[in-house]
Amino acid sequence: MTMPDMHAAEPLPDSLRDEVERLLATGDLFRYTADEGAPVSLLEQEFAAMMGSAYALAVSSCSAALFLSLKALDLPDGAPVLIPGFTFAAVPSAVVHAGCQPVLCEVGANYRIDLEDFEAKLGSVRAVIISHMRGHTSDMDRIMELCDAAAVPVIEDAAHSLGTTWHGRKIGTLGRIGCFSFQSYKMVNAGEGGILITDDADLVARAIIMSGAYEHNWKKHPVLHDAFARHQNKLPLYNLRLGNLSAALVRAQLPELPRRVRDGLRNHDLVAGIISASPQIDVPSPLPPEVRAPDSIQFNLVGLSDADVDAFVAQSAQRGIKVQVFGQSADNARAFWNWQFIEDLPDLPQTRRMLTRACDVRLPVHLTPEDCTRVADAILSAMEATQRAAA
Ligand SMILES: *Cc1c(COP(=O)(O)O)cnc(C)c1O
Repeated sequence: MTMPDMHAAEPLPDSLRDEVERLLATGDLFRYTADEGAPVSLLEQEFAAMMGSAYALAVSSCSAALFLSLKALDLPDGAPVLIPGFTFAAVPSAVVHAGCQPVLCEVGANYRIDLEDFEAKLGSVRAVIISHMRGHTSDMDRIMELCDAAAVPVIEDAAHSLGTTWHGRKIGTLGRIGCFSFQSYKMVNAGEGGILITDDADLVARAIIMSGAYEHNWKKHPVLHDAFARHQNKLPLYNLRLGNLSAALVRAQLPELPRRVRDGLRNHDLVAGIISASPQIDVPSPLPPEVRAPDSIQFNLVGLSDADVDAFVAQSAQRGIKVQVFGQSADNARAFWNWQFIEDLPDLPQTRRMLTRACDVRLPVHLTPEDCTRVADAILSAMEATQRAAA
């Protein structure tokens, strides 16, 4: 049985060839060269309109967007910032980069934030980053209620949640700021890139200046201009801008998003339905208000020893499926114990337990239902072989 290529990207739309040709012919690659209509500015307008947000700022990565969000909140030096114990290492890294202190909270077996631990730790922090890790949405009703009551600003790390909704509202628009990624493994692939959205004019003005809108380049942003006058020359310039070529790649893919979201969910649910037949495989359900936009699947191995887990990974590999168990693969950047750049790294026993049994398999949205059925059958067959060997 031959497996589909689970790492190949979808070809970029032909529609962008003329724009790329124009950029090559003119060399107009810097966002602030043109007086108006630069691809980065157009992307910001289109993305903000698509999300229903007042403002957008395109930057070099989602990590840069998270960093600028924290800086724009003007937190005191060393401010504690609450993040989930299950996320990508870039998140605590952005916190450290912003001169803040990451505070980790427990995550449950369903990959979502443990609200009891969250509430217990919320009182001691100045900001919260909700990482919707692998596009799994935590209980945002309760989280926003708690954070609003405590007057703690929420940054949504929606790097993997473009297209996800919660009660029909777009993820990334629930908190004060939403951050997205255009890195190749996300829904929109520009190689690298990111964007932040917010309705807060003063906050975005600060982020725009710090992203590298030096001198009066902020005049090219459609934002209340009195906010800029207040901050001119008072903020450092970190130069985390996006270039026009990357913006052109992103813009051409935005019309593809509804299809990608639809196919990603179809692929995920198809595979989830098949592999759930195994009593050793548990695919956690979405929360009721959540409609997901997955490009991968996560599931927990139930009742397997560490040796069985390794055997299942090996059996899957033999069948052409790369299964990554977050907490069993060496140096995994999503296992919190590898974030050793954090001072006084805590232990999170519940998150650790989840990570040692949670599997991650890429399911690119361009896979066909037939591809997905083959992938799911191979996972089931790998589990049966693992069980036979263990018996
Ligand atoms: C990919 C990812 C990031 C980092 O995005 P970059 O654009 O590569 O900086 C942050 N958080 C999550 C949850 C991610 O999946």
